[in-house]
Amino acid sequence: MGGERLGAALTGGAAGLAALLDLVLPGRCALCTAPAAPLCARCRDEVADACFPGGARPVQPVPFPRGMPPCVALGGYAGPLGRLLSAYKDDGRRDLAPLLSALLALSVTRALGPLPGGAPVPGGAPVLLVPVPSSRAARRRRGDAPMLALARGAARACGPSDDDHAPAPAPIAGERVRVLDALRLRRRVADQAGLGAAARAANLEWAMATRATCRAAVVGAHIVVVDDVLTTGATLVECRRALTRSGAASVTAATIAATARHTPAGR
Ligand SMILES: [Zn+2]
Repeated sequence: MGGERLGAALTGGAAGLAALLDLVLPGRCALCTAPAAPLCARCRDEVADACFPGGARPVQPVPFPRGMPPCVALGGYAGPLGRLLSAYKDDGRRDLAPLLSALLALSVTRALGPLPGGAPVPGGAPVLLVPVPSSRAARRRRGDAPMLALARGAARACGPSDDDHAPAPAPIAGERVRVLDALRLRRRVADQAGLGAAARAANLEWAMATRATCRAAVVGAHIVVVDDVLTTGATLVECRRALTRSGAASVTAATIAATARHTPAGR
């Protein structure tokens, strides 16, 4: 504990208070509570091991829902990836955002290439990242929109980087990827957790619409819908329906994790 830091903490107002708390309560690993935030080295290795060999790859839920866009995931939801997402979204570990954004960017980059059931995005064409919309109840409970934050981080990670050591995928040239919070829920929907595949599909059917302010940008756009986890695919079916109806040229999807009920796509 440096005396200088402590001195700054005691005289630095709000920022100083945060620094003081940092000295008293050092950041903890989000997975194992070792004194290393946001993740200790051992848990970082576990997260890397939980990703699919070879990295992000196309996945399909079983059963495959009609109308689902081609989707890429980075690893299975069971284990460290699922615990990371839960810590980020539900336990307030927003310090995981840069790491999760970098992971999502790996899926997004793969989703721009050729996918079973979908043509690659034409080289150089602009791409919109559209986060899955969260319900008003979820926004109220969490106080923010965690997927929107991850989408913004992923778009930054896909852009040119001046840091050779940044945990980002190969840069996609120029300002090619930007985020548009284009979708909204137009009616109340039940929490998808605990619903089976058929109930999820019924719960979300015609539940989404393109925001009026985003309609012009969606027409003719190549869109990658981003979400934290692929479960039955019902959410992505509805996202694609709403965006295609609004004139999107193509819709694919990128998630960080996929639940166990999926197979590698294209087999
Ligand atoms: Zn740890």
